Amino acid sequence: MHPFQTYCREELGRMKAEGRYRSFAALNKSRGEFPRYTDAQGRRITVWSSNDYLGLGGSDELAEAAIAAVRAHGVGSGGTRNISGNTPVHEALERELASLHGKPAALVFTSGYVANQAALGTILASMGGNWHVFSDAKNHNSMIAGMKNARAKTVFRHNDPAHLDALLAAAEPGVNKLVAFESVYSMDGDIAPLAELADICRKHGALSYLDEVHAVGMYGTTGAGVAERDGVADRIDIIQGTLAKAFGCHGGYVAAGAEVIDYLRSAAAGFIFTTSLPPALAAAGLASVRHVRQATGLRARHAERAARLKDAFRAVGVEPMPSASHIVPVLVGDAALCREVSRLLLEEHGLYVTAINYPTVPRGTERLRFTPTPRHGDAEITEAAQALAAVLRQVGLLRSADAA
Ligand code: PMP
Repeated sequence: MHPFQTYCREELGRMKAEGRYRSFAALNKSRGEFPRYTDAQGRRITVWSSNDYLGLGGSDELAEAAIAAVRAHGVGSGGTRNISGNTPVHEALERELASLHGKPAALVFTSGYVANQAALGTILASMGGNWHVFSDAKNHNSMIAGMKNARAKTVFRHNDPAHLDALLAAAEPGVNKLVAFESVYSMDGDIAPLAELADICRKHGALSYLDEVHAVGMYGTTGAGVAERDGVADRIDIIQGTLAKAFGCHGGYVAAGAEVIDYLRSAAAGFIFTTSLPPALAAAGLASVRHVRQATGLRARHAERAARLKDAFRAVGVEPMPSASHIVPVLVGDAALCREVSRLLLEEHGLYVTAINYPTVPRGTERLRFTPTPRHGDAEITEAAQALAAVLRQVGLLRSADAA
């Protein structure tokens, strides 16, 4: 036996003992029923942990667009974008995304993860690697992966423009600076002060790189994200997003100036050396972006559902973690307990809410993360709040007196 096999066995044991071992929920998703799934016994489960934030993944519009594209172009794209994997649909999607963000151009990658890793990695390797990157302390793993080989990297305090300002001021003269941050942070639901961050980047001549993965589709008049909502999109150099969350589809992208995008197209290994997004996904993505740009009612309903869920929790004595967005986290503060609360919600109440544990969040801040969608009704919200309060009481995290 190779020592690696022994290592795997031992490491798996340690993961299980420490609660880091991952298992999948055996849930079946059926189109049109969202957010209701069924479990292995055919029991109906209400899902509260989907990143299909607007519930569009199962819509007729997206399904029809994907089916039509399969009929027209086949299933696989057949190659990289440069080698027979390009279609007019990919190009139309990129024009649509550029227009959404008010940028001259956009480039589609096979996922949001790949977009971050490839774009950041390529930028930071350019210009002889003469870059110093400044990264928000809570940036997503995909951005961290893209910054891994940066010659110089400094982490600034989460959502702290003054700290960033001081660090940029102290940077070595003559080095190129890039600042990477998100708008909506997916585990806390807080929102970055984009205008201040953008101004500081400008002041120090730093390139700004913004991940709007948890905001696109949901914020701003046309769903272009928090940069649109705050009127700062033109002051952010590179905006990255995904089609896999609010757009209900799949794929990632960056939108920026024409030359930056053209350079990434010809230099980013994570774009060049992989088969392009299947045409059906590009077509469904295009249909979704077009739909979502004018779906102001859906956006308003989504925000209203999130506010209502937070109120419903408070009404049963559960204070959610502070969140300025549609993400509603509830602190448990212990990995085993968090898994237990999640298990009880699923098994005894038919609610699927994933436990978010270390390393996704720091130890001691383990939490449940609720993501309401426009398709969660009033009764489901009340049911979720009551079930959560009951389970928290059952495990000793909520006293009866806490309940209103
Ligand atoms: N950025 C952030 C902030 C994310 O949370 C994620 C994934 N959840 C990604 C990028 C990657 O996006 P995708 O799922 O499209 O790969």
